[in-house]
Amino acid sequence: MNGYAGRTLHIDLGKQNFRIKNFDEALARKFLGGNGFAAKILYEELNPGVEPFSPENMVVFAVGPITDTPIPSTSRAYVATKSPLNNLFFDSTFGGRFAITQKRTGFEAIVISGKASSPTYLFIDESGVQFKSAAPFWGKLTRETVDALQATEGEDADAVAIGPAGEKLVRFACLTHYWRGREGVSGRGGVGGVLGSKNLKAIVVKGSRKTEVADLNSLRELIDSRKEAMEKGTAGLKNLGTPVLVNMINTIGGLGVRNLQEEHSPRAPEIGGERLKELFFERNDTCFGCPIACGKTLRLPPSPALKEGLRWKMPEYETLFALGSMADNWDPASLLRLNALCDQWGLDTISMGLTISFALECFAKGLLTPQDTGGRTLRFGDPDLLLQLVEETGKRQGFGDLLAEGSYRLAQRLGEEAAGLLPCFKKVEVAGHSARALKGMSIGYATATRGGSHHDARPTLQYVGEFDRTKAKGQPSFAVRTQNFTAFDDSLTQCRFASERGYGGLINENYVKMINAVTGWNVTLNELERLGERIYNLERAFNCREGVTRKDDSLPLRVTQQPIPSGPSQGMYCPPEEFQALLDEYYSLRGWNANGIPTAEKLQDLGLEEALRDES
Ligand code: SF4
Repeated sequence: MNGYAGRTLHIDLGKQNFRIKNFDEALARKFLGGNGFAAKILYEELNPGVEPFSPENMVVFAVGPITDTPIPSTSRAYVATKSPLNNLFFDSTFGGRFAITQKRTGFEAIVISGKASSPTYLFIDESGVQFKSAAPFWGKLTRETVDALQATEGEDADAVAIGPAGEKLVRFACLTHYWRGREGVSGRGGVGGVLGSKNLKAIVVKGSRKTEVADLNSLRELIDSRKEAMEKGTAGLKNLGTPVLVNMINTIGGLGVRNLQEEHSPRAPEIGGERLKELFFERNDTCFGCPIACGKTLRLPPSPALKEGLRWKMPEYETLFALGSMADNWDPASLLRLNALCDQWGLDTISMGLTISFALECFAKGLLTPQDTGGRTLRFGDPDLLLQLVEETGKRQGFGDLLAEGSYRLAQRLGEEAAGLLPCFKKVEVAGHSARALKGMSIGYATATRGGSHHDARPTLQYVGEFDRTKAKGQPSFAVRTQNFTAFDDSLTQCRFASERGYGGLINENYVKMINAVTGWNVTLNELERLGERIYNLERAFNCREGVTRKDDSLPLRVTQQPIPSGPSQGMYCPPEEFQALLDEYYSLRGWNANGIPTAEKLQDLGLEEALRDES
C-alpha cells in the first residue's frame, strides 16, 4: 500500500507480549493515520470510565501516510492517551526524528497497554518489541536517559523518555526526545504520567523500511509549487523561532500577564525572541527533513549561580508566556534555566507555569497562605522562586506535591473564590493565545477536545486577519473549520508550521494533491473535509462517553466576567449571553444537539458506526 506499511503493533506490558495486526486501505482512507488512528483505537479499545493512571489506560504512538516521504517537515511524532488532567481524549506531538524512525519500523501505530512489574523500556524494530530493564535509568533526567539509550541501541535508533516527574505521576508530565542534541517535547496532557504509571521509562524505535510513494513526479511538483509560500510564511520562525510571537502578541494586547490579570506589558521585549537571540544565540537547529529550522540553541555563560553555564534549546513562545509574562518574570536567563529544568524533569512548561501563576495570584489574594507553602511567601516576579517550585514539582516535594496535581485540583482545595481565578478549559491550563483578545479562541477553546490547547482551534488565522479577531460573527465557523483542519493535519502527520504556512491553515486542494500523490488514491476536497470532521467527531464521542456535555464547554470566569483592563485590546471579553449564542451556532454547524452531543444522524453520515453503537 503506497504511503503505508499497513501494520499496527499492540503491546501488553503486564503480560510482556505483543500482537501485530494488519489494516487495509479502507481503514487508512477513513482515518488516514496519526490522530485518526489513535482516536479509532482509543475509542474502540478503552472502556469508558478507565482511570488514566490504571494499567487499562493505553498510549498510542502513530504516524501518517506522508511521514518519511520527500514532503518537508513530516518528522512530527504523535502520541495520544486518556489524560490524567481531565480523564478525556488527549493528544500531543513532538519534533526531532522519532516519527521517521517509527515509520521505518513498519508500524503506523504502536499501542501500549498494561503495566510492567518493574521499570522497563521498549525496543521496537521491524520484527516487534523487546522488553528491556530500565532500572539503570529510573530516576534519571530525560537527556541522560535518551543519550544512554541511543548509545546502547545505536545512532540510528531514536528514543523518547519520561523524566522523574513522569515516574512520580505528575499530572502534566511530558515526554522528551533528543535528536542532534535538540529536544522535542510532547508537552501537553500528562502522557508522561501515564507512561510513569505503567513503569515505562522510554520507547526506542529502530528500522529501515522504505515508504513507497505512488507518484513521485506529482509530489515533487506540489512541493516545488509551495516552496515560495513556505519560505515567506516561515521567515519569522526561521529567524527567531516561536519567540517571534512574544512582541507580536503583546502588540495586539493578547499576552497573558500575572495570571491573566493583564494582557499587555511594556516589559515584553525583555523576553522576546529578538532579545533572546541577541543575548544568547549559538546556532540554528532543525528537525529531520525540515528546511525551516525554527529551533535555536542558546548558550548561557557560566555564572556564580550556574557554574558550567547552560546550552539548551531556545524556550518556545508558550514557555516564555507560561513561566515568563504570566509569572511577571522578565528575566531572560532564568527562562532558559526554567525551560531546561522542565525538559529535564519531564514537565509541560505551559501547565507548570500556569499552575504556578495561579498559585501566585491565590497567595496574593490570601487564598493560599505560608501554611500551605511550607512557610514560604509566594510573589510574582521572583525567578528564583520559580526555579525552586519547578524542581519541587518534579520531585513532588513539599508544596510541589500540590502543584503536581495541576491548577484545577489546587483550586478544588482552595474553594470557590480560587476557582474564579483558574486559567483552565476542561481542567487544562490554557495556552498563550488569548480567549479574550481573539474572539475565535473563546469558542475555540470551549469546544476543544483538549480544552486549553491551541492545537484544536488554531489562533493563526485570527492573527493574520483571515478571521476578524474582534467580532463574534463568524467565529463558530472558524472554530469548526480549524478544529477539523488540526484533526486532519495531525493525522497526516506534518509539522503544523510547515502545513499552515506552506500548504494552508484550512483543508484545501494542496492536501488533496499531496495525499493522492503519495497514496495513489483519488480523494476529493469534500472527502478530506469529511475526514477531518469524522476524526473530530470521534474524539467528541469519546469525551461524551466520559460525560462531557454542554456544561463542560465553558469559559473561565475571567473570560466571561472581566474585560481586559488595559492595553491595545482593552475592554475585550466574552460575556455569557454572547458565548451561549456562539455555542448554539457552533452546535448547529456541527450537527450536535443542544446539549453538545453528536446526533445519530451526524454519526451515521460520517460513517462512525462504533460511536453509533454507543448512542443506541
Ligand atoms: S518548523 Fe520547527 S518544529 Fe516544525 S519540523 Fe521544522 S524545525 Fe521542527
